[in-house]
Amino acid sequence: MKIHIAEHPLISHKLTVLRDQNTKSPTFRQLTEEIVTLLAYEATRDIHTVPATVVTPVALYEGVELAQPRPVVVPILRAGLGMLEGMTRLIPTAEVGFLGMVRDHETLQASTYANRLPENLEGRQCYILDPMLATGGTLIAAIEYLFERGARDITAITILSAPEGIEAVRTAFAHKDHNITLVTGAVDTKLNEHGYIVPGLGDAGDRLYGVV
Ligand code: URA
Repeated sequence: MKIHIAEHPLISHKLTVLRDQNTKSPTFRQLTEEIVTLLAYEATRDIHTVPATVVTPVALYEGVELAQPRPVVVPILRAGLGMLEGMTRLIPTAEVGFLGMVRDHETLQASTYANRLPENLEGRQCYILDPMLATGGTLIAAIEYLFERGARDITAITILSAPEGIEAVRTAFAHKDHNITLVTGAVDTKLNEHGYIVPGLGDAGDRLYGVV
């Protein structure tokens, strides 16, 4: 697995405000979108393109355009939904699929409760959006789900990651020669006994949408 940790003062600044417990949902949502757009810039560095020719007012220009089939963006419900706008701002033509996953608060095991994805993901570049890579259970289950549908090129974008989660994902797919990349805003210190990232930012879903 390739890992890219954002080291950019603008991302660090926005992350600091995001972590602050006094930051309210509207600002939290706005910052999440902004951070994702910045991370998406890095995450799409290897996006497939094909040659494309246009005519400028002055001359022919041999440029590129995004290749077909279109990339697929997969936010993990619910918290990943808060990242969607920031991602599609950068690739508006991407197809969007949804994966609803929930983790049991006691066992920390992830299970799928909804999916709306293309049946066949062969040859598609897939971008999974999930703000918090904690134990890794959700991300591993999501990647496996996409593998089952034929995806072989998967980039996960997370706002924060725990070392334990990174290790779990790395170990889970160590023997597969598929192309997996993690792009994250920061790697924090550890997980606590409840599976929360420390220092983290709390429950991303609750902070985005309020507790329901
Ligand atoms: N999910 C969250 O929302 N926050 C954490 O710290 C860990 C998992």
